[in-house]
Amino acid sequence: MEKGQVEPRPVLVQKFGGTSVATAEKRAQVTGHVRQALQQGFAPVIVVSAMGRAGAPYATDTLLGLVKDIAQDTPARSLDLILSCGEIISAVIMAETLRAAGIPAAPFTGAQAGIITNGQFGSARVLRIQPERLWQALDQGIVPVVAGFQGVTETGEVTTLGRGGSDTTAAALGVGLRAVEVQIFTDVNGVMTADPRLEPNARTLQTISYREVMEMAQLGAKVIHPRAVEIAMEGRVPLRVLATGSNNPGTLIVDAREISHRAGEPVTHVEIRSDRVVRAVTQM
Ligand code: ASP
Ligand code: MG
Repeated sequence: MEKGQVEPRPVLVQKFGGTSVATAEKRAQVTGHVRQALQQGFAPVIVVSAMGRAGAPYATDTLLGLVKDIAQDTPARSLDLILSCGEIISAVIMAETLRAAGIPAAPFTGAQAGIITNGQFGSARVLRIQPERLWQALDQGIVPVVAGFQGVTETGEVTTLGRGGSDTTAAALGVGLRAVEVQIFTDVNGVMTADPRLEPNARTLQTISYREVMEMAQLGAKVIHPRAVEIAMEGRVPLRVLATGSNNPGTLIVDAREISHRAGEPVTHVEIRSDRVVRAVTQM
């Protein structure tokens, strides 16, 4: 490194789900997390979902409803185009919220962020990330706010990644940008040992392996999309699930070996279970 040159900041991907960006109050909490990441010396890259749940004007289900009111046979290509709009709106609103708080930020669609997918509308697979424009923004000290859940094909068609796909965007960007960690902010404190509605003694796990969280099927899938876990595992990027409304460190999801390393404990049984789990997840 030449004299006077500044060491690049490590990239931290922070993904905020639909409820985390639904109101001005929640978006202020998001701003707090981004500011904290900047103060800690990271280069945050933000990924957002569409604002709110069904009924909210730009929620994914609301957009879907608009089309279903007209036709039952809307081409998948058109569906993906309208569904992608919810996250784009969210990205602009969040970027403006950050700018209004004095943090330079700019919104990016999935295509602009370089998320290249196959042509399977409705459940497209990320083929690769071409993050040049994101690097440019980061070089200029701008926080990129990327619309989750979407990408673009080689031929320029807008695609979506399947329901819950913003987690997948975050994981793919984490791998593509070699992030130190991908943080999935949601409305729960992390991954729990059991469903708290059924098991009152359920507690939040500090750490869990990629495989274990995938094996938790229903319970795990509620807090993070299995495809995102799979991508992070393959790309060896740590994931963290945490609540937007708190400063709790949440649950860190890493390789089983990493857990034993961090906790000073022997490697757990999950390490030897392999492809069957991964293949099952691939079908989702
Ligand atoms: N907005 C999309 C959905 O509702 C993607 C996401 O939230 O992750 O499925
Ligand atoms: Mg989700």
